[in-house]
Amino acid sequence: MSFGPNPWQQRHWDWRAAGNFICGGAGSGLIVCAALSAAPLGWLLAGAALVGIGLSSVWLEIGRPWRALHVVLNPRTSWMTREAMVALALFAAVGAAWLGVPLADAAAPLLALGFVFCQGRMLRAAKGIPAWREPRIVPLIVATGFAEGAGAWLLLVVVAFEVFVSRRFWCRYVCPGGALYSLLGRFRLVRLDVVESSCTSCEKCEPVCEFGLDPSKGHLPMECNNCGLCIRACAPRALIFKLGLPAVSGSGA
Ligand code: SF4
Ligand code: SF4
Repeated sequence: MSFGPNPWQQRHWDWRAAGNFICGGAGSGLIVCAALSAAPLGWLLAGAALVGIGLSSVWLEIGRPWRALHVVLNPRTSWMTREAMVALALFAAVGAAWLGVPLADAAAPLLALGFVFCQGRMLRAAKGIPAWREPRIVPLIVATGFAEGAGAWLLLVVVAFEVFVSRRFWCRYVCPGGALYSLLGRFRLVRLDVVESSCTSCEKCEPVCEFGLDPSKGHLPMECNNCGLCIRACAPRALIFKLGLPAVSGSGA
């Protein structure tokens, strides 16, 4: 792709260039957040992968791919060259951290900050877009990268909780829609009940509940959405729906 007679004064940045800043910022921020929270090393790898995706994205923008080699030729004048060099050091640090090399996991977040700083300086140096040529663009880009990375970190936390700690963690504790649904559940007229004389304590109803509830114990919290899965799993028919007045206080049926 050509940008006209003055490619060094690029006035239009499409999704490929934006992808470098979005993925690069999010990946760098994720590496910093993962290091601050002592997250598993895999999260550093995820951050480095995002940085790599961003760099691959901007590489697609170069009409002649071998022109990408020019990027390593100007370390004394080009922030793009410095960005590429810091990226290489960042990948090396994350790889070394994965292999257990001492202090590599401490170097990775510093290099991630350096990488996103280089991106800010690249925008500040962009001749084609005057609005970017001011000093505050640098902390803005660094802060944006950190915010994106914090979002990616939070997403991983939710997924980790969902997989390793509590099923439906997002629905039960984070999602506002789930909170509203639970609130409405407090006023439901039809609710689950246990016929204790029929319950054999086989516990087959517990694993089928997508909210991690134990229907055989009765007094279900608001999260129960009357899906009926536990009723189907209960061969002795100890679980039934019954009509009842809304709960006035407390959390259960
Ligand atoms: S599946 Fe039925 S019988 Fe088994 S523990 Fe649950 S309520 Fe009791
Ligand atoms: S009705 Fe659905 S949500 Fe409620 S306890 Fe049974 S399986 Fe869980």
